[in-house]
Amino acid sequence: MANEKILIVEDEPAIRELLKMALNEAGYKTLYEAEDGEKALEMVHRYQPDLILLDLMLPGIDGLTVCRKLKSSEDTARIPVIMLTAKSEESDIVLGLEMGAGDYITKPFSRKILVARVRAQLRDTAEAAASTEIRRGDLVLNVEFHSVKLSGEEVELTHGEFELLRLLASHPGRVYTRNQIIQKIRGDGYPVTERAVDVQIVNLRRKLETWGAEHIETIRGVGYRLKMEA
Ligand code: CA
Repeated sequence: MANEKILIVEDEPAIRELLKMALNEAGYKTLYEAEDGEKALEMVHRYQPDLILLDLMLPGIDGLTVCRKLKSSEDTARIPVIMLTAKSEESDIVLGLEMGAGDYITKPFSRKILVARVRAQLRDTAEAAASTEIRRGDLVLNVEFHSVKLSGEEVELTHGEFELLRLLASHPGRVYTRNQIIQKIRGDGYPVTERAVDVQIVNLRRKLETWGAEHIETIRGVGYRLKMEA
């Protein structure tokens, strides 16, 4: 679980050591350290960490500037940042959060809080990445924009078709009965019948052409599923 790479940006060696020990004990073994902002930016590009603990008061380029640079670059914007701050830096905390930092920890902090915040950020980031885009071979569903692309080409789906495809694609290999499908995709203000599910499946297969025919399986007498290897 804890094979994520964490970059610690902190200029005080004692605090850096404390952070390292706490994270190590929590199972995070791949740790990088930077003692100033310049080095931090360089290390982010070199190691592509999964999370950054960022002290705000740093010599040279300060933490807020580091945060702004990270969040304004497409390559690094997705990396979660937890700011390490002093109580007196409240206005900086607000600025940092508005810039896109995910969280902050005020010094002095307990190990327990540190580890809990780190875990939460990593989990949220993984969930966010998983929920905005579903990739199954040549098919890409963007949940945020409700768009579907097949081999890079946009496919026009109705809302119902999209939700059905999303359900099947979220759990490839799992069979859904018509009734389960109805339960899962309704709630958008219109009734869905078993017949409507069948019609949507036919439409999906047609719109998704070869991919649809190959991947959307009818399990006779049970329901539908998306083929596992998809
Ligand atoms: Ca500092």
